[in-house]
Amino acid sequence: MDSKDIKDKTDEIFEKAKIGAGIAATAVGDFAKSAGEKAVNVKNTASVNFHIRSLNNELNDLYIKLGKTAYDIHSNIETESIPAEIINTINLTLEEIEKFKAQLVELRGMTTCSKCGKESPNVSEFCPACGEKLG
Ligand SMILES: [Zn+2]
Repeated sequence: MDSKDIKDKTDEIFEKAKIGAGIAATAVGDFAKSAGEKAVNVKNTASVNFHIRSLNNELNDLYIKLGKTAYDIHSNIETESIPAEIINTINLTLEEIEKFKAQLVELRGMTTCSKCGKESPNVSEFCPACGEKLG
């Protein structure tokens, strides 16, 4: 593989990473709409779970692309760094997954302690585990 091939491959990965980021943004948009209706029901939870699954699939694809890029780079004499855009897209996707997970906890009528991460009913004023003020 010559350096032009690597550049083409990298460009291709960048394009796919951008598409992945677009899907993540769309999923968030869809969820924001449904959350606005404030209907706490099974369908909503299922919808959030669906988005989390989709994002996890995107994430797995990104990890595969990252691994392939690393392999290509190491197989070649020329050394290049791992494309920052893939890392950025992975970080973005991880953040979106965390947001959806937080929404899921909320839909179950629970809240997550910002200090220790323990879940408790969202009527609780203080965390039963560490005593942190909730809200
Ligand atoms: Zn706590």
